[in-house]
Amino acid sequence: MTIKIGIVGYGNLGRGVECAIKHNKDMELAAVFTRRAPESVKLLTEGVKVYPYDEIMTKKGTIDVLILCGGSATDLPVQTPELAKAFNVVDSFDTHAKIPDHFKVVDEAALLGGNVGIISVGWDPGMFSLNRLYAGAVLPGGHDYTFWGRGVSQGHSDAIRRITGVKDARQYTIPVEEALQEVRDGKNPELSVREKHTRECFVVAEEGADLDRIKEEIVTMPNYFSDYDTTVHFISEEELMKDHKGIPHGGFVIRTGSTGWENENNHVIEYSLKLDSNPEFTASVLTSYARAAYRLNQEGQKGCKTVFDIAPAYLSSLSGEELRKHLL
Ligand code: NDP
Repeated sequence: MTIKIGIVGYGNLGRGVECAIKHNKDMELAAVFTRRAPESVKLLTEGVKVYPYDEIMTKKGTIDVLILCGGSATDLPVQTPELAKAFNVVDSFDTHAKIPDHFKVVDEAALLGGNVGIISVGWDPGMFSLNRLYAGAVLPGGHDYTFWGRGVSQGHSDAIRRITGVKDARQYTIPVEEALQEVRDGKNPELSVREKHTRECFVVAEEGADLDRIKEEIVTMPNYFSDYDTTVHFISEEELMKDHKGIPHGGFVIRTGSTGWENENNHVIEYSLKLDSNPEFTASVLTSYARAAYRLNQEGQKGCKTVFDIAPAYLSSLSGEELRKHLL
């Protein structure tokens, strides 16, 4: 028997989940739901139907887990609690400051419906959060460092696009190599925002636009760029499409700490990700947590959970017996 998955929202993440299901033989794509006209959404999988979001409640009982692929800003705060009343759900909610509130409303809804809702799944929050937890538990008296990049920040790219005279833009967040090396060497540096990351922007300007003004507006933009060393390159639309159409990302979670009676021995724990496609990787993480949501619910569990609450064996398609063979 396969786990029947429904995808809610068919953007980058939705398509990524569809690809991930193809590589997980214990799962099948049962349906896709969209708020747009269903006929405008073209799936990769043959024989699967796209339904209007408004009809989703009629599918209750026919889908084991819904993977919610909407945006964190306005989609998930509404959709996750709404759908957790009727389905097991998994989402990638990544507005860090609002995770506690999101947990509370999803918990209430999932308890009411007798379902499992796993929130904030992905790589950050998600795999990075887990690795920070593991490292912190093992080396309690240590220092945590997270570096992001090299990768495209959607939020920063959008901020540049809002500047008058900008047609399109792509912004890369880049870790500062020297800072990364100091951390890896166990020097425990105190690093300012500027010392950890730089920002590189590729901008397509409208014809006749004042390039000096656009550049000035970018590098001085509060919250986004003013605290960083930022470089701006003006390029053509063709160059942007050719060289910058991917959505790569990644980063490093590092914890340094010491052990021994006098803290005489130092240790460095490092987890790193180098992702060609941020949404496809995030989707793959979501898919493995959908398996966990299904299994937990089969065991009678309900309510909201985060990656911290899920034992690793629940993520794997292998049985406990098979997994134990791989302990070493
Ligand atoms: P997209 O903008 O590609 O898609 C979001 C939603 O927009 C879709 O589900 C879709 O819903 C809707 N949409 C409207 N018009 C279109 C269109 N023309 N083409 C495609 N979709 C459209 O966002 P992503 O999939 O890239 O990311 C979704 C969220 O994932 C982000 O907001 C982010 O918060 C989160 N994320 C989390 C990560 C983590 O590590 N935890 C990492 C990466 C992302 P509908 O079909 O209903 O119209």
